[in-house]
Amino acid sequence: MSIKRMEEMRCPACGREQRMLVWSAVNAKDPEAALMVREQRVNLFQCEVCGAEAFVDESVLYHDMEKRYCIQYVSKAAMGSEAYYATLTKRGTVILDAVSQRIVDNNGESYFNHPHFVFSIREMAAYIMFRELCAAFGQEVDA
Ligand SMILES: [Zn+2]
Repeated sequence: MSIKRMEEMRCPACGREQRMLVWSAVNAKDPEAALMVREQRVNLFQCEVCGAEAFVDESVLYHDMEKRYCIQYVSKAAMGSEAYYATLTKRGTVILDAVSQRIVDNNGESYFNHPHFVFSIREMAAYIMFRELCAAFGQEVDA
């Protein structure tokens, strides 16, 4: 599932306001949203008046249920906020709510507890490309 919301944003250059979609989760099966992540346009504000661009610093989860991995971009604000760590263990794994954990356990999808953490959208795009190459050329072995 992809998670997004419409928000009113003010252009940092000219001050004009416009609405944009802010994404907090992108499903690889959502082709337009996945392309946006690969092209590093996710949460990129683009002013319709002056053309200025600004990155909206929002944490984003990218998940590919077919290839069984997920990537968590940790926003700068989240990284510096003690509250963000309420759902992380001391070893940096994710604590899900009880219902989600039961679903994950029943489906053998423990990768949701072990996302690949990244600290830039560029790194997220690079990791997606790397996993595509693994899927194309990697070996058919569990290791
Ligand atoms: Zn502007």
